[in-house]
Amino acid sequence: MRIGLGNDLHRLEVGRPLFLGGIRIPSKKGEIATSDGDVLIHALIDAILGAFALGDIGTFFPPDTKEYNGIDSKELLKIILEKTKPIFINIDSVVTLEKPKLLPYVPQIKESLSKLLNLSLEKISVKAKTNEGLGEIGRGEAIKAEVIILLKEN
Ligand code: MG
Repeated sequence: MRIGLGNDLHRLEVGRPLFLGGIRIPSKKGEIATSDGDVLIHALIDAILGAFALGDIGTFFPPDTKEYNGIDSKELLKIILEKTKPIFINIDSVVTLEKPKLLPYVPQIKESLSKLLNLSLEKISVKAKTNEGLGEIGRGEAIKAEVIILLKEN
């Protein structure tokens, strides 16, 4: 068994789409990124790579590479799953965002992750928090995700 930890933060900008865990969340602001900016999937990728001690998302997908422009982060995750072939035990995560409130979207996010990871819903935890108005996240300038996973090598 191996444990992995990942986090990610992106700036937010008015008029961009907000992607989280592979779904689009209705929001005035979305992530600024080379890819679609899905912080939860990026943190998940880093957690998987961390469990295998294989570096991080930037090692595999350098941010200045043209072919990753606007890429769906689910595609990046699929590449990493294909390479590492993990058997997941469970996943816990925290997303910190001031607006919109994410709680109503948590079931959809979990459903999406369940499909992507071939892992049952009761083994996936997604927690949504605000930053109580403090700092760049509190001002609505950024979104952050943290993920911890336990997996077995295949
Ligand atoms: Mg990222």
